[in-house]
Amino acid sequence: MLSIINICKNVHINSLLVQQIRYKSKTHWAKLKKKTSPKYKAQNHFDEFYGSVFGGKWPPMKEAMLRRSKYVAVVNNYGDSEETIDFLTERGAHCLKALMSVQQEFHKQYPPTPTQTDTQTATLEQYTAKVQSDDISSIYPQDKLPEKLELSDMTIRSNEEEKEVEKQTLKNLTLEESLASAQMDMSRIIDPSMGVTSEALYQYVPATQLKGMDEWVPESLHYSYYAKDTDFPLAIEPETEFSFPEHLKVYTYEMGSDWNMFPEPKRCKTSVYNYYPMDCGSVLAVLALCLSPGDRVLDLCSAPGGKALVALQTLLPDVIVCNDSSISRTNRISRIFRDYLIDFETSNSWRERVVVCTRDGREFTDDIGFDKVLVDAPCTTDRRTINQDANLVYQLARVKDRLSLPDVQPYLLTNALKLVRVGGAVVYSTCSLSPVQNDGVVHMALKHAFETHGVIATVKDLSVPFANLAGTLSLAAGSIAPRYGQLVTPTSDANFGPSYIARLVRVK
Ligand code: SAM
Repeated sequence: MLSIINICKNVHINSLLVQQIRYKSKTHWAKLKKKTSPKYKAQNHFDEFYGSVFGGKWPPMKEAMLRRSKYVAVVNNYGDSEETIDFLTERGAHCLKALMSVQQEFHKQYPPTPTQTDTQTATLEQYTAKVQSDDISSIYPQDKLPEKLELSDMTIRSNEEEKEVEKQTLKNLTLEESLASAQMDMSRIIDPSMGVTSEALYQYVPATQLKGMDEWVPESLHYSYYAKDTDFPLAIEPETEFSFPEHLKVYTYEMGSDWNMFPEPKRCKTSVYNYYPMDCGSVLAVLALCLSPGDRVLDLCSAPGGKALVALQTLLPDVIVCNDSSISRTNRISRIFRDYLIDFETSNSWRERVVVCTRDGREFTDDIGFDKVLVDAPCTTDRRTINQDANLVYQLARVKDRLSLPDVQPYLLTNALKLVRVGGAVVYSTCSLSPVQNDGVVHMALKHAFETHGVIATVKDLSVPFANLAGTLSLAAGSIAPRYGQLVTPTSDANFGPSYIARLVRVK
């Protein structure tokens, strides 16, 4: 009895203490908790970092990302596809391919004006040089700047120089011409001397405060690695082979439409689901592969298998290898395929066409050579990161994952460039807005693949075919447009993305 009284006393005293502590603090405990939870930490960080990258365009992007995202419906060709199309059309959805054709006709009459002006580019360069200069000054004493962070290296090109670069990079170059003009394309890139190692870690991963490995450092510092020159062959050519796969049926609501959501997919008579809901940016990554009949495809980071499923819905690949380093996530690929592909587990034809495997994509090997490789890389998953506290790369427990991204992303892409046959294509995609995880990784991998394996790839500029998506989604343009890839930016009207997609074709 005495001990019960003692426990009660203790509990009472403890709760009093807690209450006292709560009331003593100037900031309410609930607010304190809010400030330190991973998603708010991430939001604060993104405000600082993306605020500096995207300027006034960041707040509306963030607002959209905090809202419910939009989906498209990918019709399952292995279900009652005609019925499904009727159902989606009756609900006011449109066929993406048809929307793109309409937009293409419109562009034939009224060609889109070039979006990236020299003045805008110069402004961004000036701004990033300033951010870099401020950050470096605050971290390093002025007399001890490390060599690769020399401020004098951050010269800004004149408008004439910019124009010359654009002319050189966008015209159709032969390999020899590309090699000759390699030094021309030199803005917005990571310093080649940094290599693909974790040395670059703290310049690379989103962070806001410098305080040991478990804390954050200023990501704006990564601009210090935007160097002036490249020492590997680099060419950007317009993509001319793009076509929407005949059998891929994607349905979406128009930009700004009140209709936004599709109901839950339903089982068809064939027991598979009628459509697969996904972000339109994810569909673009598959479109960028420009699949052809009979292709042998590798999806290097495949789980849970959404993009591989879309690739199969084109009915084009002969074989698709779906790889992921995580066993539990690889199991999810098989589950999705069971849900969408008739007799997936029992039919021999699927067994020959679809291979699911669990390997580290950096070490994946193959003797034949793939026609197409998709690298949908692990990234900071920006939309999820600012909305959810659970399973976040911004949780303290997952700091290691976040800090390992620079070691994973460029190596995955480098290996993909090695695994694709000459003439084949690699698509690199992320769901992050970070220029470092996007263009930065493409640049590092191109350099690394050339230096280590003698592999040369051309960057294919998708801006012309993707311009036909103007009525459906928003692509970063002007001063915020990436140089190598396309960036789907979330807006309140078209709340897709963020998604970054870059297409590289191996030439050697
Ligand atoms: N492509 C998938 C889809 O459309 O459903 C989403 C892929 S997700 C963005 C990134 C995936 O990369 C994760 O499933 C993760 O397990 C995997 N991953 C991370 N590191 C990897 C590595 N070293 N090799 C292969 N996969 C890796």
